[in-house]
Order: sequence, then C-alpha cells, then structure tokens
Amino acid sequence: MNINISSIRFSSDVNGPGRRIVIWVQGCTLNCKGCFNEEQIPHIPKNIINTEVFYNLVKKLLIKYNCEGITFSGGEPLQQSKAVYDIIQRVKNDNYSIVLFTGYTIQEIENDFNPHIINILEHIDILISGRFKQNNPSYSRTWFDNPDKQIRFLSDRYKQINYDNVLNLEFNFNSDDLYYTGFLSKDDLSYLRELFEEEDVLLL
Ligand code: SF4
Repeated sequence: MNINISSIRFSSDVNGPGRRIVIWVQGCTLNCKGCFNEEQIPHIPKNIINTEVFYNLVKKLLIKYNCEGITFSGGEPLQQSKAVYDIIQRVKNDNYSIVLFTGYTIQEIENDFNPHIINILEHIDILISGRFKQNNPSYSRTWFDNPDKQIRFLSDRYKQINYDNVLNLEFNFNSDDLYYTGFLSKDDLSYLRELFEEEDVLLL
C-alpha cells in the first residue's frame, strides 16, 4: 500500500503537544476559500511511498529526534484514510502518540462509516477538525486555540496538558531559504515575508 506525502518535518514543537514528526499528506478536495496550503490541494503524485517503508523511516526519526509522537496534517489525511491508518496503527503499537488535523467537521466524520476512518479514531490521541474559515478574525494561533477547529481528546494521554508555554511558530534554515511551520494568520505571514524579503531571504 502507498501513501502520497507532500512533506515531512523531522522535529516540530508547534504541531501538537511535545516534540513531534509532522507529516503533510498531498491532496484535498474540501476547497476552503483562502486555503493557505494551496500547494497541497491537488491530488497529484508528490512523494509516493510504500507505507511500511515510510513507517520504518518515521520510526527512525522518532528515535533520532527524541519525539513523543507524530502529527498528520495536509492536504487532507482522511482522504487517504487506508494508508494513514496503516501508518498510525504501526506507530501506536510502538506507544508513540498521534495527533491528526482534518478539514472535515466532527459531524461529517461521525456520519462517515468508512472503516479506516473509524479505525483511525480508535487509535489517535487528539483530533483537530473543521474547515479553515477565511472570515474568522485574523490573528495567529497555536495548535489548540483555533476558533475554526474543534479539538477532541480521544485518549487520556493528553488530558492534563500545561498550555502555558505553547509556541505557534518555528523556523528552519536551509541554505538561502527559510522554512516555517505553525499557525500564522495570513496578515502576519505576509508581513513576515516582506520583512525577510528585505533581507533577501525567501520564506517558504
Ligand atoms: S481542508 Fe485544509 S488543505 Fe483542504 S482546502 Fe481546507 S484549508 Fe486547504
């Protein structure tokens, strides 16, 4: 079985509790107006990887970067539910935690009887769901306080989180480019891009 991956970050502190491997899948048909992951929307082959091979890679990264779990985002992970579940159940068997971002609402998920989605819900720790809404107030957020999203703790693992020092943005330098991940508003992102462009640094 294969999964279509858009990108992966080896070590992130802003995409769920603790340090995590973040996996962005390729492809989403939900068509949110103003989607800020537009390059991840087309269901085109990006990085097609066998799920067992990918799991072995993820396992090595979890150990190397001392991560406590993985986060699936997108794109839309539930539109590759069979492959996503195949990876999730392997990672969960190793006792790592799982966070999953989806654009589907809780109601849509609960009305979907796709067995792979049901299996995913039984194995993940945190589900963060709901469409991106362009018209909501434009401010930067963290992974747990986005008013567009519903957050559900599906296991006891993270019910007692200390949210005091949660970050919303991190950077990673690569040659002349600067990659970021986090939950910036479009306004803040535009401002940041302008600042970096003045210094001849491209923010990706
Ligand atoms: S669910 Fe996410 S990736 Fe899909 S269109 Fe909406 S914002 Fe974009």
